[in-house]
Amino acid sequence: MLLLLVNALLAYSPHYDFHLPGIAALHPFDVKKYSRAWGVLLQRFGDELAKYRLQIDAPVSLETLELAHSHEYLASLSHSAAISRVVESSLVKWLPASLLQKGLLIPAKYAVAGTLAAARTAIDDQTIVFNLGGGFHHAFRDHGEGFCFFSDAALAIQLLRAEKRLGSADEVLMIDLDAHRGNGFESYIASDAMVHNFDMYNFQTYPGLHPGDPDRFPFMLPLRAGTETEGYLDILREELPRLFAHVKLPKLAFYNAGTDILKGDKLGGLSVDYNGVKARDHFVLDMLATHKIPTVIMTSGGYSKDSYRLIADLAQHLLETP
Ligand SMILES: [Zn+2]
Repeated sequence: MLLLLVNALLAYSPHYDFHLPGIAALHPFDVKKYSRAWGVLLQRFGDELAKYRLQIDAPVSLETLELAHSHEYLASLSHSAAISRVVESSLVKWLPASLLQKGLLIPAKYAVAGTLAAARTAIDDQTIVFNLGGGFHHAFRDHGEGFCFFSDAALAIQLLRAEKRLGSADEVLMIDLDAHRGNGFESYIASDAMVHNFDMYNFQTYPGLHPGDPDRFPFMLPLRAGTETEGYLDILREELPRLFAHVKLPKLAFYNAGTDILKGDKLGGLSVDYNGVKARDHFVLDMLATHKIPTVIMTSGGYSKDSYRLIADLAQHLLETP
């Protein structure tokens, strides 16, 4: 397979931003990090940016979501109580469901549509597509957790298989470097031998240590809270090449590039400095490019005021890498 990793694209819609009155008081989350990142890129690239944009014009449909979620769960999301459980705020249940649909669910559905479009394009064009949203790795088939309503990556795999873009013998790789363990994504692939999961995560925060035997899950890599830059990068530089030596080359990779590993992030609990996060991203992208693997990148978690700048820096690196 000849692969030219040129023309990397950015999937984005201004509808990605969450918006709800008082949301900043409920959740330590820069709800505008997506549009802020896009704004930085517009400043840096000007009109040129349009050439690299994969436009996301519509939210994912309920019919498509049913490939990865139960009908009952999706129906429950028309009630404020069910939505409040996903965002883990009991105050949210007192807000009208219509407001929550508009401010939380519609943005999430646009971001899922971004991951799906990115996955199709990555496979069809044999390239890397960075969705400036998504990475909702705490969503399960029948419920959501940790601000994740829908499992975009698991849904993308189901959809690509249904569309025959992925065949039954095609392997898929998830590299999940968000600070939190991707418990929702794991639940989808527990009995799926074709999907490999590499997850470096803070085991001393939600959702905790992976329950499996470490010999059976050699790439579930728990980190102590407070792990610093050099320690973090040492483990990544040792373990990721070991993964590539261990698995058959995948047809598609997902990179969950959570920026909540940054020192000072309110929820991540790790202590990687700004340049360390950039070094992480560059190392992962170099590995994927060296192996010529079509890739979808997602932004996932990131709860500090600097998250949007890290997202913009990663996008810039991708567009400027020959
Ligand atoms: Zn996270």
